[in-house]
Amino acid sequence: MNPEIISLAKQFHFGVISQNKYIVPQNLTGEAFILDLFRAEAKSREDRAAANRLRQAKFPAYKNFEDFDTDSQKGVTAKELEILAKLEWLESLYNLILIGPPGTGKTHIALAIGNKAVCQGCKIAFTTMDNLVHILKTQEISVKSQNRLRWFKKCELLIVDEFGYLPVSRAEANFFSLISELYEKASIVITSNKGFEGWAEIVGDSILATALLDRLTHRCQILNLTGDGWRVANRKQIFDNHQ
Ligand code: ADP
Ligand code: MG
Repeated sequence: MNPEIISLAKQFHFGVISQNKYIVPQNLTGEAFILDLFRAEAKSREDRAAANRLRQAKFPAYKNFEDFDTDSQKGVTAKELEILAKLEWLESLYNLILIGPPGTGKTHIALAIGNKAVCQGCKIAFTTMDNLVHILKTQEISVKSQNRLRWFKKCELLIVDEFGYLPVSRAEANFFSLISELYEKASIVITSNKGFEGWAEIVGDSILATALLDRLTHRCQILNLTGDGWRVANRKQIFDNHQ
């Protein structure tokens, strides 16, 4: 391609040309050609933004709704899962709290929501509560924590996984301010192995727990997942393949 075109494309940050990704169509001229070129640039920018959103989300794994088996999980129906998968509740700023014993699919559902939302252009962050506490505790001294926290506050959906496995202790006030800041600005998904009656113990303060629940549950869907857990029912063993 003409070097001046490449140089100008670089100047105007026109990626498909400056990075030599655009194959000039032979059959298009005039407006049709310009439209094709702009479409290619728009698609390339959207792909880059989506990859960036996915990186920022920091999902620990890929999960989708299609792989979730509602026959073995009585806490959520196929219809309810379908409503969750539509993601309209994100626009209406609803929260979702998934409660249940280990292995009942809480993280799976949270990740399926997250992955779908990222594809639809949503800014998302996934964190375990443990990691969030670490970020909150180190925000004064760590640039990495500050940056992550800044992203949490910009997000349209914050997923907090495993609330209640460890006590929140000294970071509880900061956690409360984060939730207050996101309240009515973003959706929050929380997974927990403990019902609300155990939350005071987790944050170490019953008044704070009440205030927290007050905000979180104002517009909220609560799902109680049940059972012995998918891992137990579908446990694989080394010797299974040798019989
Ligand atoms: P939890 O977060 O409740 O401890 P997970 O979501 O991590 O449980 O589930 C444990 C494993 O079992 C994951 O690999 C998950 O994909 C799978 N799993 C759990 N429930 C289901 C289900 N109903 N259908 C399909 N896979 C499931
Ligand atoms: Mg989990």
